[in-house]
Amino acid sequence: MSSFQNSIIWITGASSGIGEAIALELARYRPKLILSARREAELQRVARQTGLPASDVLVLPLDMADTARLPAQVEVVRQRFGRVDYLFQNAGITQRSAVVDTDFSVYQRLMDVNFFGVVALTKAVLPLMLAQGSGHFVVTSSVAGKIGTKQRSGYCASKHALHGFFDALRAETHDAGLHVTLVCPGYIQTPISLHALGPDGRVHGKMDENQQQGMPADDFARRLLRAVTRKREEVFIGGKEVAGVYL
Ligand code: NDP
Repeated sequence: MSSFQNSIIWITGASSGIGEAIALELARYRPKLILSARREAELQRVARQTGLPASDVLVLPLDMADTARLPAQVEVVRQRFGRVDYLFQNAGITQRSAVVDTDFSVYQRLMDVNFFGVVALTKAVLPLMLAQGSGHFVVTSSVAGKIGTKQRSGYCASKHALHGFFDALRAETHDAGLHVTLVCPGYIQTPISLHALGPDGRVHGKMDENQQQGMPADDFARRLLRAVTRKREEVFIGGKEVAGVYL
């Protein structure tokens, strides 16, 4: 895990759940962290919890759906730290609604946050990593990025799209020294289902029972970091627990 020490590591979705757990777990290796999501106060809370010196943590609020602004935010990181060694793209939203009921705008929103935002941030960071001759993209997909599940058609589509994009990027950049890890979590204990979009695009606001019984986020983060250190290309974590529900 020493590869994380002194590395410049950017985590999106760091204000909550899995991203927060990744930040806290990484902090043990004394890296420089960039913490991003929309809620600045929550990012500041996580920054304090890392226990890292203020000079080693940049709180950088951003909205993944505001793709036009992402290149400027990469420039902020470049000016502060000069490089990006790891980019954990973890920010994401989900849905709870059947296709027949779902407004088209819900699909657009899911793709904007979960896919187009990720593509835009990747494209903005890529020239930096290519110039470095190293860099590792770690992307939080889902079990739903591999199979279709009820009530999540747009979510599944957005996560499936990540696999196509990043498998292609891996093939294009492997010889340049870059790495891609796609992680497919099963149910992990986070508040994600509370913020799920309902059929009209409004927040659904209910916690899933399966979610509450999922793997603790800190356990997930530890397993993910081991997989990243081993440069695994695709890894399922917590999937076994949900197989009976999904299949
Ligand atoms: P949380 O709701 O706890 O975290 C989601 C994170 O994404 C928050 O930090 C949120 O911050 C951020 N986010 C949401 N929308 C935006 C946006 N428009 N711009 C920037 N940041 C945004 O859920 P999880 O931790 O569970 O989710 C993290 C990832 O894990 C997601 O990609 C999710 O799809 C994936 N996943 C989760 C599973 C689970 O069971 N928990 C299972 C499979 C995959 P803020 O609101 O401050 O912007």
